[in-house]
Amino acid sequence: MVIGSDPSDLAERFKEFSLPATPPRTDYFFIDELLKPEELEIRDRVRRWVDREVIPTAAGYWDRAEFPFEIVPKFKELGITGGPIRGYGSPGMSLVAAGLAAQELARGDASVATFYGVHSGLAMGSIAILGSQEQRDRWLPAMARLEKIGAFALTEPIHGSDSIALETAARRDGDSWVLRGAKKWIGNASFADLIIVWARDESGEVGGFVVEKGTPGYRARVIEGKISKRAVWQAEVTLDDVRVPLENRLARARSFKDTGKVLTATRYAVAWEAIGHASAAYEYALAYAKQRKQFGKPLVSFQLVQDKLVRMLGEIISMQLLCLRLSRLLDERKATQGMASLAKMLNCQKARKIVADARDLLGGNGILLGHHVARHFADMEAVYTYEGTDHMQMLVAGKEICGVSAFK
Ligand SMILES: Cc1cc2nc3c(=O)[nH]c(=O)nc-3n(C[C@H](O)[C@H](O)[C@H](O)COP(=O)(O)OP(=O)(O)OC[C@H]3O[C@@H](n4cnc5c(N)ncnc54)[C@H](O)[C@@H]3O)c2cc1C
Repeated sequence: MVIGSDPSDLAERFKEFSLPATPPRTDYFFIDELLKPEELEIRDRVRRWVDREVIPTAAGYWDRAEFPFEIVPKFKELGITGGPIRGYGSPGMSLVAAGLAAQELARGDASVATFYGVHSGLAMGSIAILGSQEQRDRWLPAMARLEKIGAFALTEPIHGSDSIALETAARRDGDSWVLRGAKKWIGNASFADLIIVWARDESGEVGGFVVEKGTPGYRARVIEGKISKRAVWQAEVTLDDVRVPLENRLARARSFKDTGKVLTATRYAVAWEAIGHASAAYEYALAYAKQRKQFGKPLVSFQLVQDKLVRMLGEIISMQLLCLRLSRLLDERKATQGMASLAKMLNCQKARKIVADARDLLGGNGILLGHHVARHFADMEAVYTYEGTDHMQMLVAGKEICGVSAFK
């Protein structure tokens, strides 16, 4: 029956329905019912793993700005490395399932989510999308087993949003490429085994060059003093005539457009990460507001507090629906770069407000690491900026909609 065709029946249906005794946490609109069983299985598997392995120690690592190396081998048991990559020891998940995995990692800890995003999404993704068959066979299986860790070196000290203008040079010399330049903000680069360095060759084209750990001339210095994502390390990298064999140039990376293909494939996952941060902050704030009393009553009994909580949940639901639709379109090969950018931009804007409101609802405790929301509040700042800033996502979507680029 079409809704509205029989008003009496419609009234009955609303009357009979009540929420379960334990309402789903952020799944107020039963969006889980739109997910396939295998997607739910992966989401729940990652959620249980994060609850057990990540959350209990996250604040300590964050406080000490220490990377949780002990977690790396445990990713293997989780079975999600390589996400949507088919074969080579990776699970070949749908992009919805891969997004849900990113969401759950971020719900636990942004630093762990970023380690995984750089290794599995950016580094493995570059090889899977732009490598030859031989290059995929050579590197991907060991990366899926986490025996070799990857990094993705695109950003430079003077080229961030305009990384298309990158200046790191690749010069052909006999049977080698010789790389010279500098990179900044490169996740995992201080300990990675395989670093995908984006550099411009003598003909002006951008290529991806795989630098293996221990190659002379490669130096990485961990960036200190961060206020966000403190437990995952980014490095400033210098490439001082780093020599890589010809066969380490990714075979199908012929221009910056190819680099863009990898970024689109990972950017959508950042939109899911934003849901993870927003959900964690909302759930914690709701639980806190139920037990914290002021003026003799729990905080949840005040109208202004309810206003904040309801708005937070409403935004989370809109973020979930946007990501689900975007990921289904990606699975059907119908999504564009602009769509991925729009989703990253909107979800990060919403999540940034939600973590700030959650922090406010905790009062002074909101700035204490032990209450978790503070970590999500600080970490969301990096999520807002990395993989393209708010402005740049706006301009990428704007270019598609308006048919003219405002940034070239
Ligand atoms: C925690 C973290 C992890 C990262 N990991 C990696 C990684 O693993 N590998 C990697 O290669 N990079 C990485 N990055 C780099 C990241 O992608 C860049 O920081 C980001 O693209 C922004 O570049 P930028 O920091 O140089 O800022 P800038 O480009 O200098 O931007 C500064 C401001 O200017 C604005 N702006 C710039 N151009 C325009 C324009 N045309 N119109 C309007 N506004 C504009 C921006 O929106 C922003 O508000 C990471 C960054 C962080 C913070």
